[in-house]
Amino acid sequence: MIRVRTALGTPDAPISTLLSKTLAQIRDILARSRPYSFEFFPPKTDETARQLEATLRELEPLDPGFVSVTYGAGGSTRERTHELVLSINDETSMTAMAHLTCTAHSEAELVEIVQRYERSSIENILALGGDPSKDAATPPGELTYALELVELIRSVGDFSVGVAAYPQPHARATSLADDRARTAEKLAHADFAVTNFFFDPEQYFELIAALRERGIDKPVVPGIMPVLSIKATQRMAEMQGSEFPAWMLERLTANGDDPAAIREAGITEATRLCTTLLAAGAPGLHFYTLNGSIATREIVARLGKGPS
Ligand code: FAD
Repeated sequence: MIRVRTALGTPDAPISTLLSKTLAQIRDILARSRPYSFEFFPPKTDETARQLEATLRELEPLDPGFVSVTYGAGGSTRERTHELVLSINDETSMTAMAHLTCTAHSEAELVEIVQRYERSSIENILALGGDPSKDAATPPGELTYALELVELIRSVGDFSVGVAAYPQPHARATSLADDRARTAEKLAHADFAVTNFFFDPEQYFELIAALRERGIDKPVVPGIMPVLSIKATQRMAEMQGSEFPAWMLERLTANGDDPAAIREAGITEATRLCTTLLAAGAPGLHFYTLNGSIATREIVARLGKGPS
């Protein structure tokens, strides 16, 4: 049984028999398959921890190539990210990747966190610059950009290291060309990238073409987020500094604007995006699950057998 640690404390240690599993590096997984992958965030309460446990149980049979666990800004989920990645690795058949951000950490702290991952046999890390804290009391951190963290992780041990990529350029980018150049630069040192969510496949294709022009052909796994609520998705798009396109709004409301019709249209549109991406050779699909399983399971069922 998966036991998820919450902000409120650690539940009893799991008494399940650990599944015997060969831990795997994501670069090898991506070299031999085009997997589904799922993203989770560490829960804060007992109730949300129970919900995540159920989600993990429901998504495990889909046999994802890997799953990933986010890292709270400024280290706010440092322990919970570590514990969740460990319990997924130890108590399920899934391989988990830990996200890590530079924000608010000294270089020595980051080395300590990465060394602890190594001691815990966590082999996969998504290296992120992170967002500057809005809290004036939080220090900016000794490292600023993801590339610096990739280099730090490489100096500590043999990890498979991923980075983030942005089909719509990153909010703080000075220009599209500069963002593409920065992404190419960090991906040259990393093993793979996972993208932010997006709706227009052309933006992903343009990103891939821009990286290829710069000599980078490492796997860039597209991030998928079905629209289940227009307001919630608009808010998330705004937070990541990307556009929620007018054509998407039109399609979502074409059959009415009640929540069930919008949800159904959101799943249909996400499935259409996945189909287009897979047909064009995307190296997998990374689902932003928001710690729920239903939408992801519906899309995977509509896609059929899966990408690999
Ligand atoms: P970086 O590569 O650090 O780049 C940030 C910006 O600086 C870009 O605009 C880039 O073009 C520019 N830049 C890069 N290098 C230089 C340079 N040398 N000089 C000048 N400009 C430069 N956030 C969290 O807090 N926790 C998470 O778990 C998390 N997971 C994520 C997972 C994915 C798949 C994605 C796409 C994002 C995630 N984020 C997460 C958000 C991410 O931390 C923010 O988007 C952050 O603002 C940028 O981090 P980065 O590593 O993507 O960018």
